[in-house]
Amino acid sequence: MYGDDQDTFDDFILNGRALINFEDKDTRELFSRLQRGKPLNVPEKLNAFPGDIVPLMRNLGAHPFFSKVEFSLKRYKKYHIAAKLLLIEKDGITETQPKKLFEFFKSNKSLSNESKVAKKNNRVLNFMDKVFPESKVPEINSESWFLNIYLLSSRLLENYNMDSKHKNLHDFYIQTWAKVEKARKTSSGETEILRFVDANTKGTNSKANIDFRFDFLIERFLQLNEDIELLDTNRNFDHYEKTVIYRRDKGFCQECGKKVEWEEYDADHIKPHAKGGKTTISNGQVLCYSCNRSLGKK
Ligand SMILES: [Zn+2]
Repeated sequence: MYGDDQDTFDDFILNGRALINFEDKDTRELFSRLQRGKPLNVPEKLNAFPGDIVPLMRNLGAHPFFSKVEFSLKRYKKYHIAAKLLLIEKDGITETQPKKLFEFFKSNKSLSNESKVAKKNNRVLNFMDKVFPESKVPEINSESWFLNIYLLSSRLLENYNMDSKHKNLHDFYIQTWAKVEKARKTSSGETEILRFVDANTKGTNSKANIDFRFDFLIERFLQLNEDIELLDTNRNFDHYEKTVIYRRDKGFCQECGKKVEWEEYDADHIKPHAKGGKTTISNGQVLCYSCNRSLGKK
């Protein structure tokens, strides 16, 4: 730079503002406003939304399972996937285009780490972590495949006793992926598999395509696992069952022997519901809050 240019440069006054006492929420709002119209990608825009849902999305995106996937997670891609998992766990299978995600974030600002949805998301990701004990899963090589295995895991966990099915699900996924990949590369194979290839590579955010992929996978998994045990659809004890269990156990925690007040009591499954335990009086017991929590973690 010479002469005038250099002077202009030297004389240029750079304005700066320090945001004192600004909370995270305010900063994000300001950032969102300043960036409007600039080329931010979808997760960067979501990350600038107000509300508890953003720390929830970040928390979910920090789950160790994300380190096992085989595709780039640059520029907040983890957050983009986390946002879709939240949406799908909350509303069921639906469109996952950016527009839909923005609307979802706008109308679910208060969805937090403590919400049922967040707990379910974490439960599913923890389960997936056990299903794939290896440090890398080369077969989870796109966002679609991540969503496929997530949805399959979520639905199976909700309805079936998956306790001894980790290996079955693992091998099923790897083998199915190989079949689909082969069909994709050679453009030949069963009609259904070719349709799956299409739904998994084009319009991957459309409800119809996500539905198709999910049905395809769950039907094939169940065909190969006919002995799988359906969970008791009734997972909560009703008032009468609760009363009888409380009277039978005389209101004492069956684990530590502490007296549990009726107001603080919730009937607990002796054999956990997720492991095929029935919602029956004989499978119910009184537990205090802390024993319930520590047993629940096991
Ligand atoms: Zn106790």
